[in-house]
Amino acid sequence: MLNNSRYSTTNMPYIGRFAPSPTGPLHFGSLLAALASYLDAKSHKGKWLIRIEDLDPPREMANAKNLILETLDAYQLYSDDAIVFQSERSALYQAALDQLIKQDYVFPCSCSRKQLIAVNGVHFGNCCRDLTDNSTPFAWRFDCQKAIQTDPVSFNDLLQGHFHQSLQHDIGDFVVKRKDLLWAYQLAMVVDDFQQGVTHVVRGIDLIDSTLRQNMLQQALGYTQPQYAHIPVACADNGQKLSKQNLAPALDIQHPVENIWRALSWLGQKPPKKLQSSSVKELLSWGVEHWQPLNLSGIKSKSAE
Ligand code: GLU
Repeated sequence: MLNNSRYSTTNMPYIGRFAPSPTGPLHFGSLLAALASYLDAKSHKGKWLIRIEDLDPPREMANAKNLILETLDAYQLYSDDAIVFQSERSALYQAALDQLIKQDYVFPCSCSRKQLIAVNGVHFGNCCRDLTDNSTPFAWRFDCQKAIQTDPVSFNDLLQGHFHQSLQHDIGDFVVKRKDLLWAYQLAMVVDDFQQGVTHVVRGIDLIDSTLRQNMLQQALGYTQPQYAHIPVACADNGQKLSKQNLAPALDIQHPVENIWRALSWLGQKPPKKLQSSSVKELLSWGVEHWQPLNLSGIKSKSAE
């Protein structure tokens, strides 16, 4: 994928995506993920898709979907196919869950968070597989030991290198459908990336912890695995990741050029100063033409300033 022969995947159509959750407006950190995935896709003459991950209504902010889409529009980051909304795709997630149930890859579990505190929240092994009482709310958990017998498990990230986690201590039997009947991010993301033909996932390193769970699901469901590149996260002065949760300021819709120039610099791309007075279109074309993702290799976080 990335601009380096080591990563070339000739003959493979490239489909990338940006998949924000509408928990708040886009901020500088989200622009970095949007821009990096866009530039990587376009520099490979690929498609770039937008997917709104609106799976968790209690965490959503009213109007965030509209704000996100308006901002992407103002920044001229357009989806090459119709925008997908996860809230409309329950039937696909159900079909995947049915397949996992049939293959015995998942089991119902009524364990509470409180019960799992002693094991750092990681559910590993059989607790309540024989749950028979239908009146107890239960989640569906993925049986990680059925899926993988080796521990630790690992994958190669195109920017961060070899990444491993322990099944027993880090991953465990993770939830694919929650007790409150909402779909878990892990399952929905894997189903959608597959359904949309996504070949390359470029996103923030804060999501790298999810990748091995997603790989296990892809394997169990018989899906091909995309390639992954996790970019560093932008931190505020206090060292905390910029996020909607810690109220990072919303991206200014009036000044896309200024922010894209700043984002390109942050991504290690060294845009010429004169482009600060260019148009969004020119700046994005420069970015596509000069995209050097490996300038971010091995970097985990950087100050947003
Ligand atoms: N929806 C996730 C978020 O906003 C991103 C998911 C992904 O890129 O895999 O953090």
